[in-house]
Amino acid sequence: MSLGACDDSTDTRFLSIGTGGVTGVYYVVGGSICRLVNRDRADHGIRCSVESTGGSVYNLNVLRRGDLDMGVAQSDWQYHAFRGDVPPFADAGPDTELRALFSLHAEPFTVVARRESGIRTFHDLKGQRVNIGNPGSGQRGTMEVVMAALGWTREDFLLAAELKSAEQAQALCDGKIDAVIFTVGHPSGSILEATTACDAVLVPVTGPEIEALVEKWPYYDWAVIPGGTYRGTPEDVRTFGVRATLVARASVPDRQVRAVVEAVFGHLDDFRRLHPSFRHLAPVDMVSKGLSAPLHEAARRYYVEKGWR
Ligand code: GLU
Repeated sequence: MSLGACDDSTDTRFLSIGTGGVTGVYYVVGGSICRLVNRDRADHGIRCSVESTGGSVYNLNVLRRGDLDMGVAQSDWQYHAFRGDVPPFADAGPDTELRALFSLHAEPFTVVARRESGIRTFHDLKGQRVNIGNPGSGQRGTMEVVMAALGWTREDFLLAAELKSAEQAQALCDGKIDAVIFTVGHPSGSILEATTACDAVLVPVTGPEIEALVEKWPYYDWAVIPGGTYRGTPEDVRTFGVRATLVARASVPDRQVRAVVEAVFGHLDDFRRLHPSFRHLAPVDMVSKGLSAPLHEAARRYYVEKGWR
């Protein structure tokens, strides 16, 4: 609780954004947003800072408790947190205070395997040592959905590791695991590390069960990781994916939300240069695609002013 004259327990001078592991793209998203917000601090007086976290589901849970102002989250988990319809949000129920700000880059569901493991399709993961992701990460949640669709449980793997994204490349190259799952924008630091520090390949994720998932849910789409993005995988890799989105609580003050949307959309050319996966971001998509929670009122007003909604 702040001791200032303000009776609101939220100190509106500080804004914290929950991201993901430090070798992912969410961390770059948070850093890029804060960099642009802090550049205009003389105008709005807000100090933006980034927190490295366990990822999407962690961010959505902490946001619900009110311990974080904003967070980055996969579009599938934004959808389910708002509805409270499936685990891990079913017990807590719908988060009616969750608000969307905008969406960002595409996040293909990405599988990377040690070349010598012989894993060349998603089905080859059976019986192998696989990092299914730390609890709280978006990839862990999405992997559980895929496993359920295939009728797999953790017992189907020789080892189901729960490493954080920042730990997985080293574990792969040390031979402790055979494959990793990461829902992430490309190129990501973690996958660059895995494919340069040792011999690792990207594996496609296709088949009737995946087709059924893409058909069923509005937030899934087909995705292609272009050949040559990583050493060792010269051909395009087909998979499915989601979008990264920025969310906040409804109670985050309008001036903070306004500072964020003005920083990003008012300097979109600068923002696009801060990571290759931001290169093609376009306002009309960002204010509509992948958003299932209602827009924060201050963001909605800004988009209407600009003629984007
Ligand atoms: N999509 C991942 C998650 O939701 C994070 C990806 C990243 O760190 O860029 O946990």
